[in-house]
Amino acid sequence: MPSLLYCKNCKVYTLDKTCSKCKEKTVSKNPPRFSPQDHYGKYRRKLKKLQNGE
Ligand SMILES: [Zn+2]
Repeated sequence: MPSLLYCKNCKVYTLDKTCSKCKEKTVSKNPPRFSPQDHYGKYRRKLKKLQNGE
């Protein structure tokens, strides 16, 4: 999985090491909503709770 990069200047996500708009160096940053692990983890925990009868 390629790491997502972020331009603090333009507040945009990109895959380029430098921003195509302002030519600033981008930083590695993954937005939380792009993480499938967290997303499914929430449902897994909920399901487990239901199965345990809590
Ligand atoms: Zn930029």
